[in-house]
Amino acid sequence: SIDIVVSVYNEEEGLRAFVEKTKEVLQNLNLRSCILLVNDGSSDNSVHIINELAKNSPVVKAIHLSRNFGHEAAMLAGIDHSNADALICLDADMQHPPDEIPAMVKKINEGFDIINMVRNDRDDGGFFRKITSALFYSIINRISPVKLEKNASDFFIISRKVIRILQKEYRERTRFLRGYTQIVGFRKTTLSYYADNRYAGKSKYSLSKLLILTTGAIVSFSKVPLYMGLVLGLLSAIMAIGVLVYSIVIKISGGAPPGYTTLIVFMSFMFAIQFFLIGILGLYIGYIFDENKKRPIYIVDNCIGFDNDKV
Ligand code: UDP
Ligand code: MG
Repeated sequence: SIDIVVSVYNEEEGLRAFVEKTKEVLQNLNLRSCILLVNDGSSDNSVHIINELAKNSPVVKAIHLSRNFGHEAAMLAGIDHSNADALICLDADMQHPPDEIPAMVKKINEGFDIINMVRNDRDDGGFFRKITSALFYSIINRISPVKLEKNASDFFIISRKVIRILQKEYRERTRFLRGYTQIVGFRKTTLSYYADNRYAGKSKYSLSKLLILTTGAIVSFSKVPLYMGLVLGLLSAIMAIGVLVYSIVIKISGGAPPGYTTLIVFMSFMFAIQFFLIGILGLYIGYIFDENKKRPIYIVDNCIGFDNDKV
């Protein structure tokens, strides 16, 4: 059996077409399959479309969250509601083509536990997304002990073993699902796919949401930024010794001190570094603070299509 987890946030324009397409692909597979639509607090007509789809088709199930918790939380809600042998996560905008599902299922049947889908190139999102995404992966791969697949997205299939782990472990508040699927181990492989433009509507990831996701990922996957203070502290100590020697020489040789400009530049530079490091400490403290509060990652309002509809 297989579950397809789709998080939906204001996708009224393309949702019906997406579900139709996915149902068609699943029918040809001859497996017990379900499409779990997680409504991540949509404020458009997606809510009614989801309910209608879930009521009219036994294949479609709906999970409504109580508000917008974000894509990461919504995917976890879907994963938590799955009891299938394998599960696929994909986006509702056809950028993760449902046509790839049979190839993914084939790999699972070959005995793999995790198959990450890797974009062979991205035409979507434009130049800015391409550059920022490349920058993010080069930073995190340099400073994190785990190596993340470049161009991986939240498009993957996982076996029951991995589903169970995600249901119990990695229950972090600052979430980065595509990172977890790459560090749990097991038999992993990748398949490549071509990401097209969005089928309908606009991207639901604003720049600020993307920034929160990426800083969260860096903070939760690497401690290197925390140790930057040690390196910079050492460097400035060496610099201070240089300045000290220079000042003494100037003093002894009777020359006038160079004065204002050097001092201001030097101090501004030092202050910038210090505030930057305090900011990094702040990021990590914020992370610890969030984890400690243990607030729910998501809250379910109601579900439709499950055996005993949980309300
Ligand atoms: N999404 C979500 N909650 C959010 C933002 C996005 O569930 O707060 C869903 C959205 O409906 C889509 C998927 O996450 O199914 C990926 O979003 P999008 O396609 O807008 O991101 P992009 O492809 O532009 O990175
Ligand atoms: Mg998209």
